[in-house]
This record gives sequence, structure tokens and C-alpha cells, in this order.
Amino acid sequence: MNGEHIRIALAGNPNCGKTSLFNALTKSHHKVGNYPGVTVEKREGTCGRGGRTYHFVDLPGIYSLTAYSMDEVVSRDFILDEKPDLILNVLDATNLERNLYLCLQFQELGVPLVAALNMSDEAKAKGIVIDDAKLSALLGLPFVRTVGSKGIGIEAVLDAIDDTWENRKNKTYKEILGDKIIYGDEIEKQLEDIERTINADDVLAKKFPARWLAVKLLEEDGNALDRLRGHADGAEIISRAKIAGGRIRERYGKTAETAVSERRYGFIRETLKEAVKVNRRNEFSITESIDGIIMHRFLALPIFIGVLWLVFRLTFLLGDMPGQWLASAFRLLGEGVSLVIPAGLFRSLIVDGIITGVGSVLSFVPLIIILFTLLSILEDVGYMARSAYATDKLLHTFGLQGQSILPMMLGFGCTVPAVMAARMLKNKRDRIITVLITPLMSCGAKLPVYVLLSAALFGDNAPNMIMLVYAVGVALSLICSLVLKKTILSGDPTPFVMELPPYRIPTPKGILWHVCEKVWMYVKKAGTVIFAASIFVWAIIYFPVAQDGQPEQVQLERSIAGSIGRAIEPIFRPLGFDWKIAVASLTGFAAKEVTVSTLGVLYGVSGDPEGQGGQDLSLREAIARDKNFTPLIGFVVMIFTLIMPPCFAALTMIKMELGTKWLVFEMGFLFSIGWLIGFAVFQIGRLLGY
Ligand code: GDP
Ligand code: MG
Repeated sequence: MNGEHIRIALAGNPNCGKTSLFNALTKSHHKVGNYPGVTVEKREGTCGRGGRTYHFVDLPGIYSLTAYSMDEVVSRDFILDEKPDLILNVLDATNLERNLYLCLQFQELGVPLVAALNMSDEAKAKGIVIDDAKLSALLGLPFVRTVGSKGIGIEAVLDAIDDTWENRKNKTYKEILGDKIIYGDEIEKQLEDIERTINADDVLAKKFPARWLAVKLLEEDGNALDRLRGHADGAEIISRAKIAGGRIRERYGKTAETAVSERRYGFIRETLKEAVKVNRRNEFSITESIDGIIMHRFLALPIFIGVLWLVFRLTFLLGDMPGQWLASAFRLLGEGVSLVIPAGLFRSLIVDGIITGVGSVLSFVPLIIILFTLLSILEDVGYMARSAYATDKLLHTFGLQGQSILPMMLGFGCTVPAVMAARMLKNKRDRIITVLITPLMSCGAKLPVYVLLSAALFGDNAPNMIMLVYAVGVALSLICSLVLKKTILSGDPTPFVMELPPYRIPTPKGILWHVCEKVWMYVKKAGTVIFAASIFVWAIIYFPVAQDGQPEQVQLERSIAGSIGRAIEPIFRPLGFDWKIAVASLTGFAAKEVTVSTLGVLYGVSGDPEGQGGQDLSLREAIARDKNFTPLIGFVVMIFTLIMPPCFAALTMIKMELGTKWLVFEMGFLFSIGWLIGFAVFQIGRLLGY
């Protein structure tokens, strides 16, 4: 059977370890996190063994084949429309009752099925003893124990896949489960009736498994109804399902949907009674007692704010020193290069343009590493998911819902994945508002701007100023959400149900990969966008070439940058920016860090002894000495950087998620409030005498 290719969907509930298992199977490093909604798109990867190629598709988590949010639709449509050869159903072994609910629905599809009992380490620790052989016998599919995060059980999974694949035939539902009756006599009778009508329609019977469709129609699943429209017998089948639903309601006094779901749970409970034993070891659970404090009615919010405060404080505390060493190293490098290359255009390009520009951004790498490590730890420990509860009430007042906090917190890292994460919100209005306000969360790229300016202008108060800007961003996002809710996006936020993940000790490997990926992205940006921007900014400063003996200031004013700066100065004058600051703020459109590299190049910071001004100052010192750069103006630049439309990558993502109309709205909106608030802060600050 050489050269065989099996397409396998990895499906299961959110946060049960699908991506961990996928990574272990395909040796990939996709993002894993301890909260629902990490994977919102399908991801593919392969592995080979014994001449067979296994093509795995990692799907977003779902609770049922009835989909509500965008990420759930991705999973449902993949399973129903792209018809994988086999489904690897990943189950959280500590929570089988709920996880098997989906498994039963997969069985109704009649697709070859293998179940992975993932989190088997946690189950064991909790004293849950699973008789997998019995479970297999009762449910008619193989169960394999795995620990996704450690890659345990991979070979056994592949063995089970091989076995199931080799012995596959298009088994009917009855053949899989034998005579076991899941739904009870009345419902089964009605289902058979609907199934018969479906099977009478050849086209339909080929397209959908009759059993699955019958159950879904009985549940009045909107998507299943849609799928029937346009089929010759569609109307008749639907009306038959309606009648069946009516009978069930008569008999049980509840909707067919409720009756079906109750029977499924009943069946699962019976099964688990036989195959699973729980030896309650520790009566009192640590999770519960920690949650008692962290999710306490009054304490939750202060704790949440405290945690964030700690994250940013630690980032600054641990990241600033090494950052300054790196900055000095780059200055030394510039000096070294100046000794080798003779003075002139080329040396200026390398030293004053590239080394200074790229170096000023790269020296923030330690800060970025620490920020992303801390945020990653929060995600993996399980705190992020809890923050949704902590903030639910507060967010509701502002027209958002607790779940929005997840994309918002991801926004502290990078806006791109944060915007995408909003897909897990079920309600479209909630999703649009969340996407629109996410750029107001200060992303990792804005941090260098804050740190540079506050360290240069606020001395010991620097960490507080940075925190203040973050807080302004959060407050502003809430106000904007409220305004949007009261105007163009009216409606109430939908209540949400999100399951709390258990606390987990983060896997160092997972965090390392995640942080490496993010840092690499940052470094790559320094090597591309910022590299190009530095050369550009250098060129507009260097040309037209200075005449001999011309004072540096005069040359700068006469350069192209000077002309551009003076042209745009009127727009920025009300914000207090002189032309240099205006140019630096404007170049921040390419990527936020470019503001830093532009300032670097503009202030001519280099070790070049004959360089502009001939000083050996760090960028920080140069800014501190510039009389035009008062602390007030520094603060306005920070606020402006915070609010201005995000970088190109983030804008592209917003366009992908919401379309061009919203993108244009967002850009106009952010630019206007950015300017207005900058204006207000500067004018009020001046009146107050700063
Ligand atoms: P997904 O949402 O189903 O894709 O789940 P992830 O793969 O993102 O994993 C969710 C969380 O569970 C992460 O914190 C993982 O490190 C952790 N995890 C995954 N598999 C296991 C496992 O078998 N045992 C334990 N203890 N943790 C796991
Ligand atoms: Mg995942």
C-alpha cells in the first residue's frame, strides 16, 4: 500500500490539546495556549511512516457540529464539506462527559474515527481511571492515551489510524454502535422515519450521512436546513422533520433539540459509569481555592489590574538595562565601522543611516523578549481565560463582553493575531467592536517608542509614564466601544459562556517557541521595513549634500526632510511638534518602531567622531538635550503613537476580517481621535504650565 495518502482532521473541544498533538505528530510549532480560541483557522501538516503519508488538519475547537462563531464554522464546514478520510477526535480525558458529546456526533457521520484520550497525565493525577478497552468496546472506536504537550502516544495514535484505515468500510451508524439505543424508542422511531425519506433521495443520500442529517433536522439546526434547500425532496424532508419534532414535544414536553441532547448525555453517563472510575484523592482542589480569590466578586478586577501592572513593570525593570547595553554596543559598532570606512557618503549611509536606525530598534529586543515571555506565561497558566470573567461586568457597561478581553490582551503583544482572535466571538456586533478597538491596546512595537521617550524625558518616572500610556489606551478603547455601541453599532452584547481551563504549569518549550517566533518577527522587521525606512530617512536628511562649513542645524533644515517637515508642520504644530518630531511621527505609519529609528537617524546619533555634531550621545541623551522636546511634547508623541492607525500588517488583517469599508472607517477614526486627543493634551498641558 505504498504512496498512500490519508487526510485526517484533528477535531475536538476547545483547549483539549489538539494543536499540541498536531505539533507532536507533524513536528510543527503552531501556537498552543491554555484558553479556548487559540486556533481560529485550520492548519495543515504531514508526517510519514511506513510509506504512508498522513495529512493532518488541525481545526479550531468545537463543542458540537452545530456552529455559532466563525472559528466553529471553519471546523464544521471542513468536516462536512471537505470530508476528511478519517477524524482523529481529541478528547480531554479529565472531562470525558462533555468531550464525548461531540464524539457521538462524529459517529453519526459514519466517518472512520479514532479517539485520543489526551491529557491522560492530568486525568491520572486526578485519580480518573479509564478502562480504554471497555470504552472502545462500548463506543465502537479505538481509544488511545496521549499526552499532547509531551508528545507521548504518537506512535500508538498512528497505529490506531492505520488499523482503522485498513479495516474501514462505510459502516453505518448501526454497525458501529450495534443495537445500543441512544435516543430512546420514540426519538429513534422518528429518526428512522426521517432517515428513510432522506435515503429515498439519491443525490442527498450521497452527499450527507442520513443519520447525521436526520438528527440535525430534528434539532432544527439552521445550517442543516440551509443545506437541504434547493434539493428536490428538501421541502418534504423538512416538513417530515417538523412533524417528528412535534411528536417528540408532545411525548416529552420539551423541544426535540433538548430531548436529543439530554438523551446523548444520558447515554454518555451510562457508558462512563461502566468504563471510568474516579478515585477522589484530594478532596479539596487547588484550582477551586485559587479561583476563589482570583475570581472573587470584588477582588477579581483589582487583581487583574495588578497583574497587568506587574507585567509592564517587570518588562521595564528587567528589559531596560540589557537594552541600554545593546544600544551602547551598536554605538561601538558604528565607531568601529567609522575607523574602517573613509569619511563620505558611504560611511554616512552605513553608520548614520543603517547602524543607527536599525540599531536603535534592535536594542529593544530584550524588552520584547520579556514582554512576550510574561504574556505567554499568563496565557499558558490559564489566567487569560479567567480575566474574561474578572472583566465581564466592567466590559458589559461599555458594550463589550468578557470574551472580548482575550483579543484585547493579545493586543498587548501584537495586533495581528489579536484581531484574528476576535473570530471566536459569536455575535457579529461584538466582533466588529472588538476588532476596531484592539489597535488601542499598545502592541509590542509601540513599547520601544514609549520607553525611549519616557526614559529620555521623565527620568525616574519613566515606568509610571509608560503605564499611564497603556492605561490611556485601555480607557480609550472602552470609551470608543461605548461610543460605537451608542451610535453605529447599537445592540446589546451577547452573554457568553466560556469554560475555564485548569491552571497548568506552562511548558517551557511552548513558551520558548512562541517567544522566539515573536522576537524573530521583530528582528525580521528590523532587517526589512526598518532597514529600508532608515535608509530612506537617512537619504532625505543627507541630501542635498551639505556645503563645507555649513552648521549642522542649517544643513538639516535645508535637507529634503527639512522641507517635507516644514510642509507638514502646520498639521502638527497644534500638537506642539516641531518638524523633526512630525517627520518621526509620520514615519511611524510604516511600523511603529520606525518612529524610534527615524529619531535615531534625525538626531544623528553615532559614534562617528566627525559625524553630525561630533557628539557621542545616546539617542536618549540627545532627545533629553533637545529643547524642543519638552516632557509634555514627549507625552503627546506617545499618545499620538498609541492612537494612530496601526502598522500595515495590522491594517491588512483588519481589512481581511471586516472588509474595506470598516478599514477606511477605522483609519479615519483613529487618525481623527489621535490628532484631537494629542491636540487636547498639548493645549491643556501648556495651560497648566508644563
Ligand atoms: P487546543 O485548543 O485543543 O488546540 O489545545 P492546545 O494544544 O492549545 O493546548 C491547550 C493547553 O493544554 C496548553 O496549555 C497545552 O500546553 C496543554 N496540553 C496539551 N496537551 C496536554 C496534555 O496531554 N497534558 C497536559 N497536562 N497538558 C496538555
Ligand atoms: Mg488549537
